[in-house]
Amino acid sequence: MRESTGAGRFAPSPTGELHVGNLRTAILAWLFARSTDRRFLLRIEDLDRVRAGAEQAQLRELMALGLTWDSPLTRQSDDGHRYVRALENLRHAGMLYECFCTRRDIADASSAPHAVPGIYPGTCRDLGEAERARLRLAKPPALRLRSGVDTWTIIDELNGNYAGSVDDFVVRRNDGVPSYNLAVVVDDAAAGIDQVVRGYDLLSSSPRQAYLGELLGLPTPRYVHVPLALNPDGRRLAKRDGAVTLEDLASQGLDASQVRDVILGSLGLPTASLADALVAFDPSNLPRAPWIVSPSRLSSTGMPSVTPNR
Ligand code: GLU
Repeated sequence: MRESTGAGRFAPSPTGELHVGNLRTAILAWLFARSTDRRFLLRIEDLDRVRAGAEQAQLRELMALGLTWDSPLTRQSDDGHRYVRALENLRHAGMLYECFCTRRDIADASSAPHAVPGIYPGTCRDLGEAERARLRLAKPPALRLRSGVDTWTIIDELNGNYAGSVDDFVVRRNDGVPSYNLAVVVDDAAAGIDQVVRGYDLLSSSPRQAYLGELLGLPTPRYVHVPLALNPDGRRLAKRDGAVTLEDLASQGLDASQVRDVILGSLGLPTASLADALVAFDPSNLPRAPWIVSPSRLSSTGMPSVTPNR
């Protein structure tokens, strides 16, 4: 299927080097975008924690794999007005309320009988104006969405229909910074992104984001949540697991093109080049299970360190 409009994207948070799991997601996002004739955009998600030099390192890593992207490269910090405008729209529609809860308050409320873990229990939803004015004196509030639904269903190209919870999630933190869920929806729409390829860990955030997009009158993107890279213990791959970044692997004798080939091999794709992989790319043949990465095998053999995963 060829589609000539729209764009896909990769949206790393510049908190450190990318590991092979992140790089695999980036390659998949590129393959999904390019195989459907979409533009491929890169957005640096720098509203939150940023580590000096991490953005430059990540760009170098992506380039070393041979990935190309269309300009302009964007950063969330480029233009805060678009988040303010979205928040204003929601406020005018009566969809926001101030929340004064601490993490502790929410944890306590969530342990009450009938509470659903991970779902905001609505503590501040119906505070009176006098109460809010009193609480505001003590600390600035976060802003939450006054959600009109409990669940929302999205369609995911690899995972099918996925119905997930939508609670009164935070859209602006109490330090004034837009939340990830707000920013991602606003940013994707602003850039004309209509294909969101990212790690499976974010699947459960998609119903909140799709619902928010609907409230803001934005088109829903196509979602593709791709399998995560896990360590041999079944936990999400992390740098502490060993040599899993390009830099570490290079120091063990595996260069970036070899790492790319390991990743392509783990996806069941030809390993000679990204171009060859693109020709062979067929989402219906992708492995659906997590990629089990054993760092010592990665660096010692340069061969795909994968467990059978289909
Ligand atoms: N910045 C997020 C991350 O690095 C990805 C967000 C997204 O793709 O929606 O995990």
